[in-house]
Amino acid sequence: MTMNMEWADTELNGLREKGIFRTLRDLQTPQEARAVFDGREVINLSSNNYLGLTTHPELIQAAVDATEKYGAGSGSVRTIAGTMDLHEQLERKLADFKHTEAALVFQSGFTCNSGIIPVVVEEGDVILSDELNHASIIDGIRLTKAARKIWKHADMDSLESALKESQGFRRRLVVSDGVFSMDGDVARLPDIVDLAERYGAMVYVDDAHASGVFGENGRGTVDHFGLHGRVQIQVGTLSKALGSLGGYYAGPQNLKDLLIHRARPFLFSTSHPPSVTAACMAAIDVLLQEPERIQRLWDNTGYFKTGLKNLGLNTGVSESPITPVIVGEGRKAMDLSDGLFAAGVFAQGIGYPTVAEGKARVRTIVTSEHTRADLDEALRAFEQVSKSLGILSQPATV
Ligand SMILES: *Cc1c(COP(=O)(O)O)cnc(C)c1O
Repeated sequence: MTMNMEWADTELNGLREKGIFRTLRDLQTPQEARAVFDGREVINLSSNNYLGLTTHPELIQAAVDATEKYGAGSGSVRTIAGTMDLHEQLERKLADFKHTEAALVFQSGFTCNSGIIPVVVEEGDVILSDELNHASIIDGIRLTKAARKIWKHADMDSLESALKESQGFRRRLVVSDGVFSMDGDVARLPDIVDLAERYGAMVYVDDAHASGVFGENGRGTVDHFGLHGRVQIQVGTLSKALGSLGGYYAGPQNLKDLLIHRARPFLFSTSHPPSVTAACMAAIDVLLQEPERIQRLWDNTGYFKTGLKNLGLNTGVSESPITPVIVGEGRKAMDLSDGLFAAGVFAQGIGYPTVAEGKARVRTIVTSEHTRADLDEALRAFEQVSKSLGILSQPATV
């Protein structure tokens, strides 16, 4: 008997009723500050390509050269025949860049978190996690038999209570995003580290949105806060500001060696193709050689954030190039996003369950490659569409 698949339609109809059914926007040009999605040229405020590296000539050339020299794929997992000299070179470069003893590259930031967390904490241990941590951290936690305690977002009293309750466990791990991807706020890492040291816990920071953005030459939040040597486990991504694909662990050599034996995505999924690995190495060179990109990113961030605030929009607590425009109701966020798209600006609407009910928003991300003209045009679109939807009533003060 053939199983009928109508159940999937029932599920989809449920999504449609809630107004959260989505179709994927089709990118028809490179991922740049102005790009064509679904046949329309728009100012792109939705990518994580913070520094414009997806199309940097040195990354492209490195990918082409490595493909010609080594081929299109690696043909094996890292632990059998899929560790190329290129992978080893990238890891050496990453460890030097991060000022850590060692680094280990995973296929993505997602597999990094889902792979590392179950190795670091097991039955008899406890993991303490900020309530707004990324889905891949949550999945990593689901894959461990360790006890779990969720602390209130950015609330140090809540973290301290959780640490107090955790003293009976063998190993304690405190985990936080470095930059939170929906609000753009930065973890209170110095306080987290102080508390962890007081209660004998390890600290694990996921710097996906901070890699290439915070710290000297984009080394991340540990560097930004001057906490070298006090955060045991750093995770970063090569997929956002670094313009290619991948995730990495940076920390002590002994944990790297253990991960090579136990981290399941590392063991059971094929390694990066030569093109990706070479592009990642070129990206680190660009971070070191062209720090002006990071300066331009922050200049644009300040300009655009101030512009949105001056319009009277609610931009929340962002401290990074991610700036949300919080409108409340899910449908309103989707209407704002659709209106902006029609006006030539792509900024993704985000609702429940990705963010809390009543906190739906349009999320903007500027890059180093946006021009002032791009940002001014985007601000005009925000003003016009927000007024037409009644999100803004008072006259703007720009
Ligand atoms: C994007 C993101 C990831 C996933 O990284 P990929 O390399 O895209 O898999 C992990 N953690 C956080 C906090 C992120 O924002």
